[in-house]
This record gives sequence, C-alpha cells and structure tokens, in this order.
Amino acid sequence: MTKLMLAAQRGETPIPAGSPVPQSACDPGKRTASAARNVASDGSSGEAAAPTVELRNVSHGYKGFHALSSIDLSIRPGEFFSLLGPSGCGKTTTLNIIGGFVMPDHGDVLINGKSVNRIPSYQRPVNTVFQNYALFPHMTVAQNVGFGPRMARQTGPDLARRVEEALALVSLTGFGDRRPDQLSGGQQQRVALARALINRPTVLLLDEPLGALDLKLRKQMQLELSRIQREVGITFVYVTHDQEEALSMSDRIAVMSGGCVIQVGSPEEVYENPASLFVADFIGSSNKLKGRCLDIASGIATVQLQNGASVRVPAGSAWGGREITIVVRPDHAAIATQTPGDAGRNALACRVAKVTYLGTHREIEVVLGDGGAASVRQSLGAEHVQPTPGVGEEAFLVWPVARSIGFSTQSSGGEQEDPDILPSSIRIDQTM
Ligand code: ATP
Repeated sequence: MTKLMLAAQRGETPIPAGSPVPQSACDPGKRTASAARNVASDGSSGEAAAPTVELRNVSHGYKGFHALSSIDLSIRPGEFFSLLGPSGCGKTTTLNIIGGFVMPDHGDVLINGKSVNRIPSYQRPVNTVFQNYALFPHMTVAQNVGFGPRMARQTGPDLARRVEEALALVSLTGFGDRRPDQLSGGQQQRVALARALINRPTVLLLDEPLGALDLKLRKQMQLELSRIQREVGITFVYVTHDQEEALSMSDRIAVMSGGCVIQVGSPEEVYENPASLFVADFIGSSNKLKGRCLDIASGIATVQLQNGASVRVPAGSAWGGREITIVVRPDHAAIATQTPGDAGRNALACRVAKVTYLGTHREIEVVLGDGGAASVRQSLGAEHVQPTPGVGEEAFLVWPVARSIGFSTQSSGGEQEDPDILPSSIRIDQTM
C-alpha cells in the first residue's frame, strides 16, 4: 500500500482524477489477531436481521474525483447507525445516495430488500434532517410539522392531532403557533425532526443535525435524539465527524476515510478492536509506541521499543522482524510506583511531569525513558483511588498485555508505510 493510498484513506489527498480506484484503497489491513477476534466483517456478532438499508458495492465520483469506493453497508431495522469520519471522507455522499439525492455511478441501494436505484428521492420511504434545519420561514411551527401530511391531502382534526403528537414527541407542545424565527436553534432543530418524523418514514437520514448548536445544547439534543429514536423505533442513519457523539448515540458505527468504509461495529468494537491504526487514532485518544517485533511465542509478540525497553502485545500474522505500532487506550493504562511483576502487564519507566485535576478525573502527564511524553487519565470516582506520584517523581506506566493493540506499520518489502502516523511520543489516559 502506497503513501498516497494511505493518505487518501485519511481523507487528505484525493486519488487523482480519472485514476482507477485500487481495491486495496479500502483494505483496512494491519489488524492483529487480537483485533480481529470476535468481530464479524460487518461488525455484527453474527445474528441475521433482514437489513432495512443495504448498499452493495456502491461507488461514486464527482468529475473524476473518487468520493466513494465500493461501499458495502447493511443497516438493520430500528438501528441508530452512524457514518463517522473526517471531513470529506464521503459521509454526506453516502447519505445522499440512500436518500436518492445523488445517483451512484455503480452499485445498488436497497430499502427493505427492494432496489431503489430507479426510485426518485420523493418516492423513497426516507426523510432527511439537515444541519441548517431547512424550515419554511413563513409557516408556523404547526404548519411546518404538518407539511408532509398536508401534501398527502390530510386535513382537519386528524392532521391537528398528528401535529400535536409530533410536537409532543420532540417536547414542543404549545409551540405550534410560533414562527421559526421565534425559536432557539435547538427548538428549530426539534421542529425539523418532528416534520421529518410525522409521516413515519422507514429510514430517517440525519446530516450533522446538531452541528450548528453550542456544546451544552448539543449534549442535551444528543440525549433527546436517542430517546426519540428509541420511542419511534425508526432506523436512523446519522452523519457526524464527532467521535464522541457517534460513540454515545449509536448502535453501530461505520468508520469512513477517503471514500472507504474502514470498519463497521458497535461503539465498543470500534474502540476496543480498531481495524486499523487510522480507526485507533480517530476513535478516542490513542497512545502509540513504536518498535520492532523480536519474537512471537504463544500468540504474544515481544516488541522492542526505540529506547530499548520491551513490551508484549497479542501478535498479528507475519509480524516477525517487522516494525510495529502499539496502541494503548488511555483508560487501559495506569501509573504505578513499582513494576507490577506480572507477566500479564507491561511496564515502562517514566517520570511524572504534570498532574491536572479535572473534576471527575486527573490527567497525569509523564515523560518516558526516550523523552517521549505520555498522559494518564485517573478516574476519581472509584472507591480506592491509588495515590499519584508527585511531579518529578519516578514511576511506571503499566497496562495489560491483552489490552495492547498492535499494527504492523511496515510492508513485507520492508517499505515504511506511513511515518506521519507514528509520532515518537505517546499519550496515555489512565482510569483506576
Ligand atoms: P463533511 O464532513 O465535510 O461534510 P463528508 O464526509 O460528508 O464531509 P462528502 O460531502 O460526502 O464528505 O464529500 C466527499 C468528497 O466529495 C469531498 O472531497 C468533497 O469535496 C467531494 N464532493 C462532495 N460533493 C461534491 C460535488 N457536488 N462536486 C464535487 N465534489 C464533491
């Protein structure tokens, strides 16, 4: 895999116009045996539910620019499914293809098992909520919400009742007579949601719907959206570049990069078992150690780090002699005053550089033997919070071998694949 393709995966460098999309551009690759364990290719645990939305081998380009490359997705009934990835990775294009606003160059889109390739957007059982609300400014809230049923020629008390129900669903009872400019941003977004849900679509598409809201309101609306989705049981396909939002709200997440789906899984799966270094980096804080695989025994690799220290990690296939990047999740590491003396845990000597109190947790920054920095998150909610070594004191950074996630970062030909994603420093957040 070349640097250009890897950069394209990260959504940074477009594949040049007119060039074919290589199959391997969407190959997550580099998974360890441990990372691959227990995760089916679609991130499911194996049970089969007939999908509500399916994308089969969908590709799309804009004037020679490959926005999507051979996307396969299978979204289940009643699922809160998020498309997550950096700006420009193809999330909105995917959503627009499901909604029928963009016709894919290749591939099939199915809703409830039927191809909708030839069905225009207004005839699909799908509705969309946009980031900018897209309310009719001259209509009242009730008129906005009742727009869909009115188009379906519903009038009178039935219409009024449905509008009332929809407003109650989004906690806007009593707001029916206001106009959109008499509402806050969060209230306008609720109106947009009520308007999109009133006709009970099979699928609701949401394109960064909370993007325009401030942080506090955004958090509040995240909870509201989750509640509403559970209440109506409609399949939500949600676009966001905010990994925290996706982790907290979704049943499953498709992590995208450079027009490819890199991994599909539950929030826990993509966090605990990232399919690639890109996913590990993009989801949560990632703490990286770079070294070379010296030896593999019983599925555990011994990796010698650049400062000479060795750590152990569940091994991937054909790792012998290769350069390995080890990711340690912040909440899997801890600071200790002594080495654990336990083969199941790794330990690296360090010195405490800074301790920051952050209410629910402490962030402890340490310096490693090679001068690299690390940061440890120490939860303060637990009953027995371990004492923290003071600034300047020597300590050990410890974490379970089983919780180390390794990626081979070197091709079999010996070529270094992407030095840019291998910083010399690491960052550890510790929970105790
Ligand atoms: P963001 O999070 O910034 O909205 P995204 O992941 O939703 O990004 P898309 O909007 O799907 O990404 O765009 C994917 C790629 O296709 C981007 O590089 C974008 O510049 C390009 N693109 C999108 N729409 C068009 C268009 N109409 N014409 C040309 N290129 C486009």
